[in-house]
Amino acid sequence: MAPTAERLGRILLVLAGFLAIALLPASSASAGPPATRVAYATGEIVPIPASVPHEEGDMVDRRIVPDLRWIAAHFPIYVTDGYSGPLPDGEHVGCHMCHVKGSDHYNGLAVDVVPLRGTIGKCDPTWAGITRLAEWAEPTQNHPVAPFRWVGYDGDAGHGCGNHLHLSWGHAAAPMFQLAEWVEVFAVSGEAGRRSRHQRPKRGKTPPAPPPGPAGGISTFRSGGISARGD
Ligand SMILES: [Zn+2]
Repeated sequence: MAPTAERLGRILLVLAGFLAIALLPASSASAGPPATRVAYATGEIVPIPASVPHEEGDMVDRRIVPDLRWIAAHFPIYVTDGYSGPLPDGEHVGCHMCHVKGSDHYNGLAVDVVPLRGTIGKCDPTWAGITRLAEWAEPTQNHPVAPFRWVGYDGDAGHGCGNHLHLSWGHAAAPMFQLAEWVEVFAVSGEAGRRSRHQRPKRGKTPPAPPPGPAGGISTFRSGGISARGD
């Protein structure tokens, strides 16, 4: 019996469904890290290690340092800015007045990167590695993959090939110049066993309270909502 147009249509639909399922893992395989976790460890603004090429004096929250190390080992990055704000001793680090209101740079949970040994101010092949990193962190515009919460590159004003790539890590809301209660990070080698996404510490385990920071310096803040972007 010859299949009717309706039956043919149904068969095609089923085939399309199988194809979609078969192709899905392949198309998303290169996007973002395979697993993330929420780090409740006490934050601290620390110098970026030498293994992550960076501008002299740049600092970040220590909880994103393992991720930065991994990124630097896989992509040719040069960090031009991390934490921007005062330290407990009153010294100011990072680019002053460079970032938007609510920027994650004010919490030490964002970095701006350009190519290591690349052309600054011009989009040329030296940016290929940074473009690859941007696409890994945000395969579709405005849909960053965890743990990234905002990725600024092509399509975002003041960012992009030839300018810079901004990467923000997801974190608990925190006011300017305060450390976030938690930060979402991705698992890097040496953290084997922590494979699940959004793994949280066991209930009842409270993170140790940080010492109170002096006025004007960075200290820990616990709370709720978060701004839309953090460039
Ligand atoms: Zn930035």
